Amino acid sequence: MKKINTVFTIICLFACFSNAKTFYANGYPEVKKVALTFDDGPGKATKRVLEILKEKNVKATFFMLGIRVESDTETAKKVVADDHEIGSHTYEHVNFYSYKVDDKIRKMERGILQAKKIIKDKLGVDTYLMRFPYGYSKPEGLEVAQKQGYYVINWSFGMDWENVSAQEMHIKYKQAIKNGAIFLMHDLPKNDKILSFLGDFIDEIRAEGYEIVTVSELLNLKQKYQTEI
Ligand SMILES: [Zn+2]
Repeated sequence: MKKINTVFTIICLFACFSNAKTFYANGYPEVKKVALTFDDGPGKATKRVLEILKEKNVKATFFMLGIRVESDTETAKKVVADDHEIGSHTYEHVNFYSYKVDDKIRKMERGILQAKKIIKDKLGVDTYLMRFPYGYSKPEGLEVAQKQGYYVINWSFGMDWENVSAQEMHIKYKQAIKNGAIFLMHDLPKNDKILSFLGDFIDEIRAEGYEIVTVSELLNLKQKYQTEI
């Protein structure tokens, strides 16, 4: 049993170590900073989100879908113009946890590459941060992302898609404030309850002494290398 445990520990240590440089779901626990992230846009809530962020002087990270950037380039450009950080959420919203077709790896590669190209062509931004739809983080996904020069960023807390009151949602987000927190929200939301408390939430984060930064600043990440598109 001890031997099995040792073997398991070695495998786990190796896996944790090898993924550590590509995959993050939290910032450093000793640093009093948090990041706000918005997925699935640009979308119907983007404009209002940008207004609130501007009013509060906050820079956030937007994980955009290639297909949305294509169909609503003007809104995507506004996010860039406001100097927010742009990450990729792949081309379309494929759930790779339930994707059963044999070409899964190729589908991932294509989805990442397509989004990278569209974001570069339409917005002039080189992306190196990405988030798979549904937070897919299995080793083969991380490997595909890493090969294309991406860090994969998940979140420490997010629930703005859940069917609860805005008040309850606000309380849960507030309770999740901690060192290195990465908050997930959506600017193409199933509901827009987040908009009713985003401004107050930002104030509350700061009142607790936290700085709000982009994901790359939270994690001290820089572009790994230029990739061919
Ligand atoms: Zn998504």
